[in-house]
Amino acid sequence: MTLAIPFDNSYARLPSAFHTRIDPAPVRAPKLIRFNAPLAEELGFEPADADTLAEIFSGNRPPDGATPIAQAYAGHQFGGFSPSLGDGRANLLGEVVDRQGRRRDIQLKGSGPTPYSRMGDGRAWLGPVLREYVVSEAMHALGVPTTRALAAVASGEPVWRESGALPGAVLTRVAASHIRVGTFEYFAARRDREALQALYDYTRARHDPDAADPGAFLRAVAGRQARLVAQWLSVGFIHGVMNTDNTTISGQTIDYGPCAFMDVYHPQTVFSSIDAHGRYAYDNQANVIVWNLAQLATCLVPLMPDQEAAVEEFTAAVHAVPGMVDAEWLRLFGRKIGIEEAGEEDRALISELLDLMTAGRADFTNTFRNLASEDARDQFLDPAKFDPWQERWRARVASEKGWRARMDAANPAFIPRNHRVEEMIAAAVEGDYAPFERLLDVLARPYEDQPEAADLARPPAPSEVVRQTFCG
Ligand code: AMP
Ligand code: MG
Ligand code: MG
Repeated sequence: MTLAIPFDNSYARLPSAFHTRIDPAPVRAPKLIRFNAPLAEELGFEPADADTLAEIFSGNRPPDGATPIAQAYAGHQFGGFSPSLGDGRANLLGEVVDRQGRRRDIQLKGSGPTPYSRMGDGRAWLGPVLREYVVSEAMHALGVPTTRALAAVASGEPVWRESGALPGAVLTRVAASHIRVGTFEYFAARRDREALQALYDYTRARHDPDAADPGAFLRAVAGRQARLVAQWLSVGFIHGVMNTDNTTISGQTIDYGPCAFMDVYHPQTVFSSIDAHGRYAYDNQANVIVWNLAQLATCLVPLMPDQEAAVEEFTAAVHAVPGMVDAEWLRLFGRKIGIEEAGEEDRALISELLDLMTAGRADFTNTFRNLASEDARDQFLDPAKFDPWQERWRARVASEKGWRARMDAANPAFIPRNHRVEEMIAAAVEGDYAPFERLLDVLARPYEDQPEAADLARPPAPSEVVRQTFCG
């Protein structure tokens, strides 16, 4: 059988400096793990049988109409500039214009070496593939802009990592685009003004057709990223590797590596094993996005006729970002405590709750979800310390019509908790995909109480706590 994907590959038509034409490297024995049929439907094609899907989404048989490429990009990694990164283990099959008219990339990840692989093997092992599948789909269900997972295929080949041989896999993801801040940095660093202009023209047409000039474009990107980071904060998400090559122009969350959701609330939480100084800690994400957007701003200056004026204008745009994150933070956290339009006067109430949660080692998700019940009290080491706050909060929220429903829609009951994700991966390595399927089912409806899944809402027992996550 074949798969009729209605490709229209605009990025591949850009000049050759933007990419390298390369086919995915075949794998030995592809086996379909999961296919996201509703997403395929959204994209405008019908699923095929499992063997066909495994062939296609392992990269063994690129579908008709694909023009597989590896994209070039650069990036600041932990603040240091790498002029040449690019897709070292990914392959853009092409784009489709979906049923709603949105252009979307279909990309394989773990599909073999490319000219951008440097020392890497171009592969991914099963753990990070399933992690990205589960966490990206959970983010989507939570209402956070994100890339999606279309398919996961086991490669039937080992992948060698520090711990030894691990089962290999390929993920197919769907994105509004894979254009990153680092894509702009790639051409800016080469002082290739012509390519930079072509990238800007392409990206503007794709994401911001209403932007009149690079300044308006910058403000549009900044607005999306500011809102995105505020949303991360509101669900307790820590991306873990907010390098500029992992910061999209579209405003979608991308590259789920050592990312994690907090259990116990602490603003300085870091999980990533490679983030020794907490650059990408929970509460530093709002600062880092400003830094990343400053890199984008720097890249766009050469496109302006009056560069001195551009520096001034773009500096103002970047300086506006903290205020935008903060305003969105206040709005989202206001809703989390039941307030429709939180004002400055509500800020202290929210901050004091967070301080109490830090001191009381309260579970972030379960405290907010159960704020109105006894169960919130039980989250705190010393429950009595929570009582005066709860009393003040009840008084404040009394005048907020519909607060209970508002809170249920803003506070998930279910997040992909680290220990459950790790447990799911361990089972999958042993050939048992039931925990993977179950996590996906439950996390598809994170705002619904699901009594039969109460175990997945429970914070980890002390022995279950996961303290570190890895890039894979
Ligand atoms: P990441 O940290 O996953 O965002 O990746 C940063 C850069 O390293 C990108 O250019 C990736 O393509 C590249 N990379 C990561 N893992 C591998 C791998 N196993 N093989 C080749 N390149 C890789
Ligand atoms: Mg090329
Ligand atoms: Mg990346």
